[in-house]
Amino acid sequence: MTKVSIPDFALVVLIGATGSGKSSFARKHFLETEIVSSDACRAIVSDDETDLAATGDAFDLLNYTASIRLKRRLMTVIDATSVKREDRAKLVQLARKYHALPVALVLDIDPKICHERNQNRPSRDFGEHVARNHSKALRRGMRGLQKEGFRQVQIMKSPEDVDALEIAREP
Ligand code: ATP
Ligand code: MG
Repeated sequence: MTKVSIPDFALVVLIGATGSGKSSFARKHFLETEIVSSDACRAIVSDDETDLAATGDAFDLLNYTASIRLKRRLMTVIDATSVKREDRAKLVQLARKYHALPVALVLDIDPKICHERNQNRPSRDFGEHVARNHSKALRRGMRGLQKEGFRQVQIMKSPEDVDALEIAREP
């Protein structure tokens, strides 16, 4: 077991390709109400969690929801791929504004595994390049996370690492 300690008021940003296990990880470690998911936001604004045309509005809702939770000093977990630096910048900014500790939890899983998993999922009928491109973007930015403003960075490099992580919250 690998234990990580995070403050009970934090903005936790999950970072990982499609199929890397972000939503499963979030469900295992956090309350349903603590998780702000881009797919759920997409569904709210379009009735279809896969509607890419709704992405702009979905992320407006995601940022708005996260802001309100942080304003209320509630633990907030962002479940979106967040593999690009520009996607993370807004989140770090929000954490700073509300004095929440920005935490990055990285699921750096082999894109082949991600793709295989997606083949058994409804509405993840992606070509192999999708997980591969996510993974490439993630690996390009991974070393700069502290510099982007994340105060805690935990990198999981295999499904075993993901399963072995334990999160303790500190008041
Ligand atoms: P997306 O970005 O497409 O929403 P995701 O990162 O949220 O993907 P999940 O939905 O959590 O990924 O998981 C993808 C698939 O992998 C699911 O079928 C899930 O059951 C399986 N899976 C997730 N985590 C693990 C794990 N630790 N070990 C084995 N299988 C896993
Ligand atoms: Mg998911």
